[in-house]
Amino acid sequence: MGKYQKLIVAVVVVGILIGAVTHMLKLQSTVMALKAENEQLVDENAVLSIDLELARQEAQLGTKPPATPQQPKFAYLTFDDGPSANTEKILDILKQHDVKATFFVIGSETEYSKHTYQRIVEEGHAIGLHGYDHVYANIYQSEDAFMDSMYKLRDLVEANTGVKPDIMRFPGGSNTTFSTKYGGQGLAAKLAARIHDEGMQYFDWNVSSQDATRPLVDTQVIIDSTLRGAQGRNQAIVLLHDAPAKKTTVEALPAIIEGLKSQGYTFEVLKRDTPPAHFRLP
Ligand SMILES: [Zn+2]
Repeated sequence: MGKYQKLIVAVVVVGILIGAVTHMLKLQSTVMALKAENEQLVDENAVLSIDLELARQEAQLGTKPPATPQQPKFAYLTFDDGPSANTEKILDILKQHDVKATFFVIGSETEYSKHTYQRIVEEGHAIGLHGYDHVYANIYQSEDAFMDSMYKLRDLVEANTGVKPDIMRFPGGSNTTFSTKYGGQGLAAKLAARIHDEGMQYFDWNVSSQDATRPLVDTQVIIDSTLRGAQGRNQAIVLLHDAPAKKTTVEALPAIIEGLKSQGYTFEVLKRDTPPAHFRLP
């Protein structure tokens, strides 16, 4: 190798190193910001700690695979934590735009909730399990506690809709630290195996609307996070929330739908055999 070639190689190597270090520093500053936010909010209440857990996961979303231009693009809008006072509004918007979505519901036996489960199914959306309750300290106590919560919810949904859900989402996502905190190391892996053994599939997400990173997120932030996250993919599984406080999620929904359409997406519901997004288990 000549002197100049060596020099060029050296310059390239230094360039790559600078790039890598810059990237690491960026990631580190994101994590530091999340940590700072965490410390500030940690004592306020349990709902906020759920929000922060999701914020932590934002930083973990993997790098996206390169898009394959010829292949179809499917978007899966997923709404966690309903039924809520917002479910009807979400369903109305989906109907106006002729879009089907997936609802990972929790257990509620009010007449409104039962009607809402029915409406989700009648209007062609998918209904999946998110746990009869969403209290981490309860559901992540043990394998049985978690599965019992899922079965109880499955029975409730089936009794009201005739549909026996075979898709689910872990409260907090499959990589939540709460499963280890309450149920010990390896609980999440045991649950994932159990879910598959019983013929069900679980879904994490690969696009976050960031609507749960704080109690009320600005509408435009939800729109931008979703549309930016969906760019360059062929499959977008979008995390959204159907909860009483999440009014801006409802406000953001029409622009999210239009934006994804203009990126070339068509909308599908999650089914057991849809290629899943899975986080690395803790
Ligand atoms: Zn949830």
